[in-house]
Amino acid sequence: MTTSTIRCCNCVNPTSSKTKKLCTDCQRRLTDLLEWFDRTGPDLEANINKAYRHTANNQGGGGAGRATAPLPVNTVMFDFLETELKPELYGYATCLQVNTIHLHTVRQLAHAIRANNHLMENGATPEYLRILTKLRIKAEQLLDPEQDKPIILGPCPGYTRDNQPCNTSLRVADGQTSVKCPTCGSEWTVNALRERQRQLLLDTDITSTITGIHQKLADCGILTGKTTIRKWADRGQLPIQGEQDGHKTYRLSDAYLLATRSKRSIDSIWHLIAERNHSEEQEKTKQ
Ligand SMILES: [Zn+2]
Ligand SMILES: [Zn+2]
Repeated sequence: MTTSTIRCCNCVNPTSSKTKKLCTDCQRRLTDLLEWFDRTGPDLEANINKAYRHTANNQGGGGAGRATAPLPVNTVMFDFLETELKPELYGYATCLQVNTIHLHTVRQLAHAIRANNHLMENGATPEYLRILTKLRIKAEQLLDPEQDKPIILGPCPGYTRDNQPCNTSLRVADGQTSVKCPTCGSEWTVNALRERQRQLLLDTDITSTITGIHQKLADCGILTGKTTIRKWADRGQLPIQGEQDGHKTYRLSDAYLLATRSKRSIDSIWHLIAERNHSEEQEKTKQ
């Protein structure tokens, strides 16, 4: 008689028992996440109101009537809670057959999910572990955008258990040399991810507007101000590639080179020259 191992639906480890969907590690991660939302839910919700009160006071009580009453400033947090976080928590609670009629806050929802007896046996749990992992990262950024300034290393190159590209945004604290993906569990050295990101950015044909390039660089963890990018464009350092909705477009790889050249983190000037030659050669072969 053979005992077959049942694997975790989120990583390669075996599950702790036949009925459980996750391994011990992933179960703990889910519990931690739900605890975090339970604890932090009130902070997230207070964040909308704080912004609103602040504006209302500045406007002297808003006596001029509704038409001129200020809107809550923190609409980003409001949208996040109402269109992302809460719908997912309601969805998860529904999968667990939790009665949600009296549940209104993030804390109440997270608490009820955590208290569910069949949490770890439920088929939806692995998927919600992934969803909640991403939502927590977003929530933390919204609460404190400056918090610890993690270094973003770009999308995870790993694969999830159902063979889908993982693409979770990987980040590390300064000084860390390796990272374990919270979604697929794969491990990477920071150097390998940096190199991969550099290659992806240099090999890319993507062109975009200044706003688009700013965003794409930020997604890769390269924080360059829009004004800086505009300055490069004005000086002709960023050659114009075309136009999109009335805005000039530029090549992402050009902007990437300029952005990293001005950073001290680039250790060798020869590296840059090699990059530049590489991209120029590519350009020639395209023409
Ligand atoms: Zn696992
Ligand atoms: Zn991953």
